Amino acid sequence: MIRVTIDRGGCVSCGSCWDICPSFFEQNPDDTFSQVIGSFRISDTLGEGDAPDDLDGCVRDASDACPVQVIAVGE
Ligand code: SF4
Repeated sequence: MIRVTIDRGGCVSCGSCWDICPSFFEQNPDDTFSQVIGSFRISDTLGEGDAPDDLDGCVRDASDACPVQVIAVGE
């Protein structure tokens, strides 16, 4: 399990994270920013979740690809 945090206020809705790791990230239909898929969220916070080990590489790749570096992994 690894902690993932999206600073949603800085998201520019580029789509990279949900393209690279659609099992963990999705686009919020209202504000268009990235959010953690509901089943992985912590305390219903849209931008915070715990990724299972089998998604570790995927969430790291998404974090690396984010053009505004708002996805923190394991911090
Ligand atoms: S990669 Fe970054 S900027 Fe792009 S949608 Fe995801 S969080 Fe937003």
